[in-house]
Amino acid sequence: MSNKRPPRRSTQLIHHAYKPPAGFKSVVPGIHKASTVIFDNTVALRARQWKDKTGYTYGLHGTPSTFTLEERLATLEGGLQTLLAPSGLAALALVDMALLRAGDEVLIPDNAYGPNKDLARGELAQWGITHQFYDPLRADQLAALITPKTKLIWLEAAGSVTLEFPDLIGLLRVARQHPHVIVALDNTWGAGLAFDAFAFEQGDGQARGVDISVHALTKYPSGGADVLMGSITTRDEALHIKLKMTHMRMGLGVGGNDVEAILRGLPTLPLRYAAHDAATRQIALWWQSRPEVSQVLHPALPESPGHAHWAQTCNAAAGLVSVVFDERYSPAQVDAFIDALILFKIGYSWGGPVSLAVPYHLPSMRTGADVPQGTLVRLAIGLEDPQDLIDDLAQALVVLQAN
Ligand SMILES: *Cc1c(COP(=O)(O)O)cnc(C)c1O
Repeated sequence: MSNKRPPRRSTQLIHHAYKPPAGFKSVVPGIHKASTVIFDNTVALRARQWKDKTGYTYGLHGTPSTFTLEERLATLEGGLQTLLAPSGLAALALVDMALLRAGDEVLIPDNAYGPNKDLARGELAQWGITHQFYDPLRADQLAALITPKTKLIWLEAAGSVTLEFPDLIGLLRVARQHPHVIVALDNTWGAGLAFDAFAFEQGDGQARGVDISVHALTKYPSGGADVLMGSITTRDEALHIKLKMTHMRMGLGVGGNDVEAILRGLPTLPLRYAAHDAATRQIALWWQSRPEVSQVLHPALPESPGHAHWAQTCNAAAGLVSVVFDERYSPAQVDAFIDALILFKIGYSWGGPVSLAVPYHLPSMRTGADVPQGTLVRLAIGLEDPQDLIDDLAQALVVLQAN
């Protein structure tokens, strides 16, 4: 192999700098757990360093295993430093808490992950931090909302539930006209694979991207539907340290067994992601031929909102597809459809092997006027054979008609 080109990311996730203990050359990194870490003497205790990872001081400040996972996630996302949090939501909250103070304002896309909006309406409002929700397809609208109070802009691609793909490049260009504004992305859907969070704009020979990428590792990196964890990746050392200090003062740690599960998931992440993606496109196309639904929401479909933005930045599309049932079907009929599904289970989250379905009532979730009418069902496509999933959907649609 030539030395000139570094290995591609999927290879780097497997062949990563990791030094096993002398005499034990396993390809799998060892798992280390600790609360207490022992110092050789009082001089070593007093000289302890944890911020730059040159040493170990206490389990909450990192173990060889958390450092290994952090490095691999930074590689995956094209960042330089990563912090781990006990859930994706905790990672989102940490960014808000570290960067916002009373009198500041945060801008959040109207189609963002619901609990991110709830946090703004709840704790952030209590602490004197205001928020506004913006339409992620309209960079001009974002431009009009930015004031000297604006300190943080959230992006999410694609939007939770309705899967509009934002005008990432346009939104970033607007935000970059205000040097005091930090741009954070909820990158759970892209997973570091669909686009490069730190370099999605390549326009004038310069690569530009977000300042912070948050990833719910609970989803694709885990892949097992059995771990909760989140990460915060950056490329700027000062920003990383700011986040890390809040992380430390909040006492946010992750368990060694969970770290092991994510490390085990990472080497197969690109393969699983590609399988979810291919199956989901097949199922989205099938839905397009079905008269029961008025809209199929999937960024790779030309009719789906933000498709052109997706085509501009992405080469993959994850495993989510939402369908809006025609208004002639009542919410109760749609519930009957979901209840009739056999392989699709009813439940939140995604990225695991089992396909999932959840109904959503959009008017109560969104401020924008142009939200789809009719009941929306979000499908998270798992790793089952896609034809079996289509057969399952088809048999449940018979029940929808019968109700
Ligand atoms: C699931 C999810 C989160 C939160 O992750 P948890 O680990 O469940 O807290 C955040 N953002 C998006 C887009 C998600 O899908």
